[in-house]
Amino acid sequence: MLMAERLNAVSNLSSLHFHDAGAAREYLENVRWPDGPVCPHCGGMEKIYVIKTKSAWPGLRKCGDCRKQFSVTVGTVFEGSKVPLNLWLQASYLLCAGKKGMSSHQLHRILGVTYKTAWFMTHRLREAMKDAPIYKDPMGGDGMTVEADETFIGGIGWVFHSGVGWRKKRGTGDKHKVDSKTIRDVPVKNVNRDLLSFTF
Ligand SMILES: [Zn+2]
Repeated sequence: MLMAERLNAVSNLSSLHFHDAGAAREYLENVRWPDGPVCPHCGGMEKIYVIKTKSAWPGLRKCGDCRKQFSVTVGTVFEGSKVPLNLWLQASYLLCAGKKGMSSHQLHRILGVTYKTAWFMTHRLREAMKDAPIYKDPMGGDGMTVEADETFIGGIGWVFHSGVGWRKKRGTGDKHKVDSKTIRDVPVKNVNRDLLSFTF
């Protein structure tokens, strides 16, 4: 097999955090706490200890400020669930990957969990996406500016083809090219949720 074919054979779902609960926990820790663990009870960051007793499950921590224990799932939709975290990440990815999302039946078949579990997972995830502050408020805050990579802005152009009728124009020829310097000064009032995607 050629190297190129081998590379193409690896899908996004091949990542270890989709298949191993420990890797999933570490992945979520990096996403949720990019600057180090934060106590979900008091917001403390200074005195966080990993609990390593025999009865402690992996990732369990204790906050020296409020003396409470926590793990990365506390305060998230994954909290208190017996479903392995890597399956939760797969479900999150599948629900966000397609524009139309995914039904509980599809998830039940793909993940190999019961329909009842799949239903519970899709409902929790949809509620979380609905309530996420990122969808409620404009990106970066009301009237604030955001930064983006080079992109094209403009509506869909329409062109009339004889015998065919009106068709959407393809390409970016009649759109405005915006680079990272100019877009920085564009205040964002509203962001369509279809434009947002999760990166796993
Ligand atoms: Zn605390």
